[in-house]
Amino acid sequence: MFEPLHDEPDRREGDHRHVLVRGGQVLVRVEHTSVRSLTTDEARSLLGDEPGEVVLGRLDGVTYWVSSLPDHIEFDDRHHLEGLRGLHGRLADHEWNIGGRATQILDWYRDNQFCGRCGGPMSRASGERAMRCPVDGHTAYPRLSPAIIVLVEREDGRALLGRSGRWDTPMYSTLAGFVEPGETLEEAVQREVFEEVGVRVGDIGYVASQPWPFPNSLMLGFTARWVSGDIRVDGVEIADAQWFAPDDLPSIPGKLSIARRLIDGWISRRGTRP
Ligand SMILES: [Zn+2]
Repeated sequence: MFEPLHDEPDRREGDHRHVLVRGGQVLVRVEHTSVRSLTTDEARSLLGDEPGEVVLGRLDGVTYWVSSLPDHIEFDDRHHLEGLRGLHGRLADHEWNIGGRATQILDWYRDNQFCGRCGGPMSRASGERAMRCPVDGHTAYPRLSPAIIVLVEREDGRALLGRSGRWDTPMYSTLAGFVEPGETLEEAVQREVFEEVGVRVGDIGYVASQPWPFPNSLMLGFTARWVSGDIRVDGVEIADAQWFAPDDLPSIPGKLSIARRLIDGWISRRGTRP
């Protein structure tokens, strides 16, 4: 389990790894077909003596740090700079998740240098991940935006998948949307499905979650059952939506996404595999 650290540990003790971030992209070390975060020596060769701007936490005895990689720092072809979406599946899962923490926390520090109440400079609070104003005590914590993602199943065993109007690819996926203030997760599932495809759902069950750092989101995965209504899409946010049978699927998201996990769960419940 990842143990978040808010106060700096001794930099000379134990193993350390470094996530370097430039413009929302992550610098990784290339090794054959995979990539990984940098060791302290590797980070030092790019950033100088004391790499590690913000400590993130510890996993399996390794302490992870994040630093911004200034624009003027050059790196050779043993390194590669890329957004996290593109690194999904190439970085080890635990490092990809740490990369998500790294980019979000660095952005959050950047965006909370000044107090939202009095405009004065904020400083890092000790013992917690927070920025605090020394004048009026205003405290800012990293914020997450919860989003629901749902696989809707009909009584004939078909599942409702939609194609986003924003995607270039003809891929179909489960429906998703952000939770609004004052809403329960169950209400968010019902509202999003109705808004996107005009279908009423019930029997909502939680399945699993996935951090989704694009930016600051947490995807909460659900299943639901069709109650009433025919599919009606606006053609903009959702370009098309259909009821699919497990043995007649369109192009669907890749293995590491929670959308795929929901789809695979439905397929195995139906007893068929594509
Ligand atoms: Zn203030």
